[in-house]
Amino acid sequence: MASKIENKAPKLKDYIPIVGENTIDELKLIAKHLKGKKIQHINSTRVGGGVAEMLTCVLPLMKELGVDIEWDIIEGNPDFFNVTKKFHNALHGREESLTDKDFDIYLDTARSYIDSTKIKGDVVFVHDPQPIALIQNKKKLKKVRWIWRCHVDVSAPSERVWDFLSTFIEGYDASMFSSPKFTRPLKIPQFLICPAIDPLSKKNMPLEDSEIDEVLHRYGIDKKKPIISQVSRYDYLKDPIGVIESFKLVKKYIDAQLILIGNSAADDPEGAKVLEEVKESAEGTADIHILLIPPEQNDTDVNALQRASSVIVQKSLKEGFALTVTEALWKGKPVVASAVGGIPLQIKHKYSGLLCHCIEGAALQIRQFLQNPAFAKRLAANGKAHIKRNFLITRLIREHMLLALSLFHKGDVITL
Ligand code: UDP
Repeated sequence: MASKIENKAPKLKDYIPIVGENTIDELKLIAKHLKGKKIQHINSTRVGGGVAEMLTCVLPLMKELGVDIEWDIIEGNPDFFNVTKKFHNALHGREESLTDKDFDIYLDTARSYIDSTKIKGDVVFVHDPQPIALIQNKKKLKKVRWIWRCHVDVSAPSERVWDFLSTFIEGYDASMFSSPKFTRPLKIPQFLICPAIDPLSKKNMPLEDSEIDEVLHRYGIDKKKPIISQVSRYDYLKDPIGVIESFKLVKKYIDAQLILIGNSAADDPEGAKVLEEVKESAEGTADIHILLIPPEQNDTDVNALQRASSVIVQKSLKEGFALTVTEALWKGKPVVASAVGGIPLQIKHKYSGLLCHCIEGAALQIRQFLQNPAFAKRLAANGKAHIKRNFLITRLIREHMLLALSLFHKGDVITL
């Protein structure tokens, strides 16, 4: 059964009951100051991962605010995405064997996407390392303001990859990071802007119990047994095998079930291999559901499965921000998540969730929640309030607009 409000794209007025009228009025005021300026976002995929998730929600609302905004993607190819995935892992501090040939592949594809990507914005937000070389257009497009938006934890990157990327980054007018821990010494201004979720998207809007039941039934999940879940691309850094190991420890004491919910991103070539390993490690343990959700059902199914969960886990080894944690907290769920990347900005240990550092720790925290529902409920309520105050899309739109404006008014005071 489809959600009752599935086909209605949310409008600005629909956010008033959640964030208040003042917040929406302020967005309208700021948007007026961007009249005549076009904003362009550029990344490397329209589906899969947090960047695509956010841009999908940001664009329609900013258009409704009257902002001239567009989202384009660069053209890559499998060899290029293999290299950029290695870059991604290396920036997160994972050991990667990068050869000179890999850097050549990157530069060859970069030359072609620099030619083929039309720069239309007065302000261009370039997301992550894949399209970073677009800054080479700056010489011929002197009036454009360029922002590099980093979604990765670069607190301890491979020096070789960071040095290579820095030559591009320092050409930008500004950079944008998700956590103060991620910033690096740079000659350009750095802005701290956290990601956010859309509370009214299909992924996050309220669902009827009957809609949740229908999804559980479709995937053969028993609604009477406690559900532990993790939603993530099948990626080593999301540690799905660690989640299974933690579940095996929990299962010794509690008759629960585990759901791993995953998809793959167009710019992530590792997914299929990770999924195979995940299936192998689940063999022989009952009640593990490993789901690969079809794209057309993704948002409603993820929403329903998160809402059906007793505990939501995000056992990442490295993380940018982890929108999956934001989504889980917003749904009022008790969350157990690793103390990595942007997760501690969302979870204060024992206040808005439980942080963990290893497989055994995750198992212990999951059991604490399952065995103490009042404790779980209290932390979940705190978590939801924290997300409402800090990590909803209206705050992100406000900060995107202010950052864009600030690049045209260096040192000026802007009166709204
Ligand atoms: N996601 C999804 N379906 C999946 C797996 C992930 O819709 O099967 C979404 C998830 O709900 C979240 C985004 O992809 O909105 C992942 O963002 P996050 O910041 O957690 O991680 P990233 O993939 O960007 O590293």
